[in-house]
Amino acid sequence: KKVYLNGDILEPESAKISVFDRGFLFGDGIYEVMAQINGHFFYEKAHIKRLEDGLRKINIEFSTSLLRTEIPKILKASDLVDKDCLLYIQVTRGVAPRQHAYPKDIQPTFMMYATPKILPEINSIKATVVTSEDFRWSRCDIKMISLLGNVMANEYAIQKKCFENVLIRNGVVTEASHCNVFFVKNSVVYTHPADTYILDGITRQIVLELCVKLGIEVREVGVTEEDMLEMDEAFLTGTSTQIASIQQWDDYFFYHDNEVGEITQKLQLAFRNLKYNLG
Ligand code: PLP
Repeated sequence: KKVYLNGDILEPESAKISVFDRGFLFGDGIYEVMAQINGHFFYEKAHIKRLEDGLRKINIEFSTSLLRTEIPKILKASDLVDKDCLLYIQVTRGVAPRQHAYPKDIQPTFMMYATPKILPEINSIKATVVTSEDFRWSRCDIKMISLLGNVMANEYAIQKKCFENVLIRNGVVTEASHCNVFFVKNSVVYTHPADTYILDGITRQIVLELCVKLGIEVREVGVTEEDMLEMDEAFLTGTSTQIASIQQWDDYFFYHDNEVGEITQKLQLAFRNLKYNLG
């Protein structure tokens, strides 16, 4: 495994950053994860746009045009050219004496690595989720590296032997620790609007596009915990999760007969076709 750090390809143990890197001290940075499938990055433009948006929101000056020349370098060094993998990209504000305000004229720290990953055609898990309070800050639209809120939420899910922890803010389902959350009721798809309380997942955006293509009605509204109990189906979305059916939600079971909901299945199939260019 190799690491790309500020223009160099290094062994992980040689890839070192300063303890005064703002990423280390403040979690002051943005990251992105995208999947290479069949020789190209799936929805690469959308991922890079989100990275640019995040950097702009926190005033880090970094030219993403660098990615065009640098991504091939880390793929080659990792022996993953054209191979299915996940690429992790991180840009932090850089190194400066520790003071909260943005320092002037510093170079961002740019790091990447790729790991082999063959995603299943369709994610066939029937996920179990727990819920807990969404106590994260209110700028969840920023894909920042300070993920402690998400880390704590995910740890709770693992302790409860669940796949995910769905977060509830003021009685409304926002998202999960590393996925977006969707519901289906009477063939209408519901998901939280892409405001500052969720990360606007690229997979979320793709699912919304697929709904339009398939003529499925969508409502981007917050679903309350109470309304959730009336839903016919629920699923999670994310770059590596893809579309995962939710079977059990705390003590509530969606499909006692172990089935994946009809709309969820339709979207999973359409998503698979999109990945493999099956029209
Ligand atoms: N929500 C959160 C909090 C996430 O961390 C992620 C992905 O890491 C997602 C949603 C899903 O986003 P995407 O579909 O772009 O992977």
